[in-house]
Amino acid sequence: MIIGVPREVKDHESRVGLVPHGVTALLESGHQVIVQTRAGHLSSITDEEYVEAGARIVPTAADVWNQADIVTKVKEPQSSEYGFFREGLTLFTYLHLAPLPDLTQKLVETKVTGVAYETIQEKDGSLPLLTPMSEVAGRMSVQIGAQYLEAPNGGRGVLLGGIPGVAPANVVVLGGGIVGHNAAKMAFGLGANVTIIDRNLNRLRELDDIYNGGVITLASNLWTIRESLRTADLVIGAVLIPGASAPRLVRRDMLPLMKRGAVIVDVAIDQGGCCETSHATTHTDPVYYVDNVLHYCVSNMPAAVPHTSTYGLNNATLPYLLQLANKGVAKAIAENPALALGVNTYKGHVTYPGVAESQNIPC
Ligand code: NAD
Repeated sequence: MIIGVPREVKDHESRVGLVPHGVTALLESGHQVIVQTRAGHLSSITDEEYVEAGARIVPTAADVWNQADIVTKVKEPQSSEYGFFREGLTLFTYLHLAPLPDLTQKLVETKVTGVAYETIQEKDGSLPLLTPMSEVAGRMSVQIGAQYLEAPNGGRGVLLGGIPGVAPANVVVLGGGIVGHNAAKMAFGLGANVTIIDRNLNRLRELDDIYNGGVITLASNLWTIRESLRTADLVIGAVLIPGASAPRLVRRDMLPLMKRGAVIVDVAIDQGGCCETSHATTHTDPVYYVDNVLHYCVSNMPAAVPHTSTYGLNNATLPYLLQLANKGVAKAIAENPALALGVNTYKGHVTYPGVAESQNIPC
C-alpha cells in the first residue's frame, strides 16, 4: 500500500502523522511512504531524515492525498482538504467528529473510511491513542507551574523543590489518572510536597504503592479539596469523567483561601476545566488572574512540545497503522475489536454510535 503523510494545515498544529522510524517499519512490511515536503519541519524532523528512512518526498498536499491508500495525519481534515476525499481512501487521524457535521457528511458522501485515533479502545477500556498526550500534558503541567511560580512570571516566588533549610512547594494534583500521575511524578522528582486527590480509592491505593508513601493521597470531597487549597502553591487540574464535562472541584469561593501568587494549571480545561474560574486560553496568551491566583488553562498543551508529542503519538499509532496497511482495512478491523471501535465512517455510513447520536443520523 501507499501511505501518505501530508503537512498539517490546522492553525497552530505543529505535529506530524508519521516519524522516520514509522516509515522504515512500513517499508519493511512492503509498503511505500510519501511525505509532503516540510511536513515534519515544526516537529524538528527534516525531509532528509524521512528520505534516509526510505520515504519519497513530494511537493504538495495533493500529491500525497491523490496517491495514498492510507493518509495518516494528526488533526481532523480542514475544509481545504475535503476536496481530496475519494472512495477507497482510508484516513487515520484524530477526527473528533461529534461536533463536526460538515466533515462527517463529506466523509460519508465520499465513502472515505475514517479511523479516529480517539475512539480506538482496548478491552480494558483504555484509549491508547489519547494516553501519550495525557502523559505529555501531565509532565508539562509541573514544568509550566514551576515557571509561573517564579516571581518575574507573576507567581509567588517559590522554588518547587525548596533548598536545604527551606521547605519545598506544596503541589496538589486533582485527579490521579494519567495526567495526574505524570504530574505527580515530575513534582515528586523535583522534591515538592505532593498531594494527589482522587475519588477512586483503588487508584489512590495504586498510587500509594507506587510512591511508597512519598506522596499524600486523599479521597476527593469538598472539605479535602478546600483544606488542601489553603496551603497549595501549585494546583494541577487533572480530573476526567469520560464523556462528561469536568466536575468543578475548585469553586469560586475557595480562591480567596489560597495563597497570593499561587498557580493553577487546569489541564482538564479541554473538558471545561475543574475550577469554576477556568476558561480556555492559548499558547500566545496562556494565563490570567482571579483573586491573585494565576490560572494557566491552555487546551492543547502538547502543541508546545511537538517533537516529543509527535514521537509519543507515533509510538502509539504505528502498531494500528501497520495492521491497517498489512491486512487491509476490512480484515484489520474484523480481527481487532479495538481498531474496529476506531472506525467512525465506513462505506458511506457513520459507524460510531456516539457520533451518529450527536448528529441525529442513523448508525
Ligand atoms: P484519566 O481518566 O486517566 O484520569 C482522570 C482521573 O480523574 C481518574 O483517576 C478519576 O478517578 C479522577 N476523577 C474523576 N472525578 C473526580 C473527582 N470528582 N475528584 C477527584 N478525582 C476525580 O484522564 P487523563 O488522561 O488523566 O485526563 C485528564 C484530563 O486532562 C482530561 O480532561 C483530558 O482530556 C485532559 N487533557 C488535556 C490536555 C491539554 O492539553 N489541556 C492534554 C491531555 C489531556
